[in-house]
Amino acid sequence: MGQLYYISTEEWAAFLNDILLEWYVYAPTRQGKKLNFEHITVNNIADIELSTYRASQPIKSFLLFFYEQITNITKFPNVRGCAVMGLKGCDLNSLETYDKMYLEGEFAEPFYKRRRQDLVLIGSDCQEPIETCFCTVLGKMPYPEEYFDINLSAINSGYIVDISSERGEEFIKSKKEFFKKIVDRSILIKREAKRRASIDVVENINRHFDIKAPFLDLLRQTLTSEVWDEHAKTCVTCGGCTQICPTCHCFLIEENKNRKDHAVSKFRHWDSCQYTGFVRVAGGANPRKKRHARLRHRYLHKFDYKRENYGFDACTGCGRCVEVCHGKIDMRKVFSDLKKARVCPNA
Ligand code: SF4
Ligand code: SF4
Repeated sequence: MGQLYYISTEEWAAFLNDILLEWYVYAPTRQGKKLNFEHITVNNIADIELSTYRASQPIKSFLLFFYEQITNITKFPNVRGCAVMGLKGCDLNSLETYDKMYLEGEFAEPFYKRRRQDLVLIGSDCQEPIETCFCTVLGKMPYPEEYFDINLSAINSGYIVDISSERGEEFIKSKKEFFKKIVDRSILIKREAKRRASIDVVENINRHFDIKAPFLDLLRQTLTSEVWDEHAKTCVTCGGCTQICPTCHCFLIEENKNRKDHAVSKFRHWDSCQYTGFVRVAGGANPRKKRHARLRHRYLHKFDYKRENYGFDACTGCGRCVEVCHGKIDMRKVFSDLKKARVCPNA
């Protein structure tokens, strides 16, 4: 836990109003039944919805763009002075995967590295989980525990403000008078009660699936199960589950030639292991031609290979893939069916 403050909702709105000249801020606002990240101006501060559930877009949209030029760029993209608010634990936890993939090892991806250093990450507790949420199945909590610069926990017509980094301090520095040091610690007990209530809601939502991570052994024992074929039947290979997933990180490089000067530039865009040609090689061979093989691969990549190699699952239980799937494939139901179909190795 970092430095703790309290701020009323009115003061938070006034604070935002004052800093918008210096900071470029994104926050969730409601569009129909969905919450989408919007650029915040003085005109839509009142529309910000911080404490319900996660926004539709994953955090990766701000860190590794869907499509961007990566060579022959005249100016390196700069996000200094940019903040994203309303990030739930299930978004922030995806940075465990992204940091591992793009910052560690011999080569740190420069675009990701720059944005990761500069972007101010403002989390908020999820106080209204929805039917597709399953963070607790993965041993995660419906509130940010790490990876945030500032976290807001809605309470008593205001927020407990948890500042956990220098970037967070920098963000509030110019208007620190809005933030009151917490002297009455009973407010923290209230926050614990609210957090416990959210955990209970998520656990209740998922009770009938009767599943709990890690899934590595279950997957290895059910590689040839018919459950994969059954669930893959409704997959339309749209790739939506991977595009919307905060931890999916595969990309494709393409080269484009400028018609005028014939200069060649490279572009990177997100890719999907659910596309038919994802692993097709020269000569046409395709080891994952069948839908069930691609579906199974997605699960193995997240819950077997990542756990085996790095000790964590590349899934945060955000439920976006459940929500977006045209084939109504629910990861929880797949695991639940695999569990029933499992042949006990000692039987
Ligand atoms: S696999 Fe699904 S639930 Fe897990 S992080 Fe990706 S979108 Fe969220
Ligand atoms: S979102 Fe559903 S239908 Fe689309 S590729 Fe993923 S599993 Fe298949």
